[in-house]
Amino acid sequence: VTNKRNDRAKRQRKTLIERFGGKCQNPNCGSTSELQFAHVEPTKLSAISRGRGRKERLSDVSKHPECYALLCEECHRAFDSGAVLPEDMGLARPKNL
Ligand SMILES: [Zn+2]
Repeated sequence: VTNKRNDRAKRQRKTLIERFGGKCQNPNCGSTSELQFAHVEPTKLSAISRGRGRKERLSDVSKHPECYALLCEECHRAFDSGAVLPEDMGLARPKNL
């Protein structure tokens, strides 16, 4: 059961990454490794259970894609530290996936 659930989470993650363009959305980067979903706008999930389970994060991304950006680990860190703003990245965020 656990494996099946993990497989589904993996597939969901892959699908979401493809929908976000399959690469880091920082136009100065475009990396395809270590991709992560970064909060661009606060969602209910971020307020209640920030940084909790991976699964919750994934379903939150699919529910609120406009609140997330796909970034590589390095850009995610720069983004979270405030060194890079979403506007600086010229993020074209998908709406209503
Ligand atoms: Zn990047």
